[in-house]
Amino acid sequence: MASLTLKNINKIYDNNVQAVFDFNIDIKDGEFIVLVGPSGCGKSTTLRMIAGLEDISSGQLIIDEKDVTQMPAKDRDIAMVFQNYALYAHMTVYENMAFSLTLRKENPNVIHEKVLAAAEILGLTDQLNKKPRQLSGGQRQRVAMGRAIVRTPKVFLFDEPLSNLDAKLRGATRREILLLHKRLGTTMLYVTHDQTEALTLADRIVCMSMGYVQQIGTPLELYDTPANVFVASFIGLPPMNFFNGKIENGHFVCPFFSAPLNDVQKQLLASYEGKEIILGARPENIVQDEKGYINLKVVLNENLGQTTLVHGTVSGHKVTAKFREWCNYKPGDQVLTSINNMHFFDKETTNAIR
Ligand code: ADP
Repeated sequence: MASLTLKNINKIYDNNVQAVFDFNIDIKDGEFIVLVGPSGCGKSTTLRMIAGLEDISSGQLIIDEKDVTQMPAKDRDIAMVFQNYALYAHMTVYENMAFSLTLRKENPNVIHEKVLAAAEILGLTDQLNKKPRQLSGGQRQRVAMGRAIVRTPKVFLFDEPLSNLDAKLRGATRREILLLHKRLGTTMLYVTHDQTEALTLADRIVCMSMGYVQQIGTPLELYDTPANVFVASFIGLPPMNFFNGKIENGHFVCPFFSAPLNDVQKQLLASYEGKEIILGARPENIVQDEKGYINLKVVLNENLGQTTLVHGTVSGHKVTAKFREWCNYKPGDQVLTSINNMHFFDKETTNAIR
């Protein structure tokens, strides 16, 4: 169990590529932190610096109040689970799980106990004599987790652990990881490009883009109050709709519609009168409304069971709405809608207007 502090951490690779810029966070003991962002944004680099697999170019890494910036990986007491499992093909599940403890010359009885306990937690008790090739992808990933668990490390690091699994198994394994965290209570850092994994797993999400931290917060904070257009578009599925427009006479006015503002919004946007701003509307916040100001022309009606995704256009601008019922719109139908929760962003900085 451990707390971690990353202070002004930068990573510049030998080829002068700066992968991470000024990364700062205090992670509490037992927290589940998810680093999320598109491919190449610096997530894995950050994780690998914490593991000690990459040098930290500048800044400080502190684990349990001890500066470990220069400490070799093997001394950090951190276990990492990789996307490709990295299991030894010639060893059984048991031997794979026992391997690090055998290397450490732990007492064989203790090793046996730990492997059996981890196998029990992960539902691998009946698989211990099998070789990795005899297992499904999901089982292999659990062996990789088992290998980490037996070490009882201070911190678990996961690098895209579900990427190689099919959609159904991804969901199931994701829930197992969540239960594992609740059971072990160990500090976990988890890297993914999948916003659903971030929302479902994290105590706090770190959303990154191009080497920079864009926002750190609880899943609800990132969903409800995204710090900027990047976070707003990355978190939430289908993504938020954006409209470029202006504030005029108490309305948000764009080429596609004119939306009246309530008193709180008017006050918030008082200094933006006449200036260009961006309005963000999540699909679930575009609602059917007989008196609505957005005339949505349907292109595609997608039924998802309890909800319907309606993909359409407003004066040629693409818009996706998510209605909370089964709808049967046909291409070309016109639906009157309005927005029941608006997000506003500064056009120049793309930062949320608060
Ligand atoms: P992510 O995990 O978010 O996909 P990475 O941390 O792997 O991103 O990569 C961040 C950036 O650093 C990318 O531009 C990538 O090309 C670069 N990078 C990663 N590893 C190396 C390396 N060993 N040498 C040089 N550049 C690297």
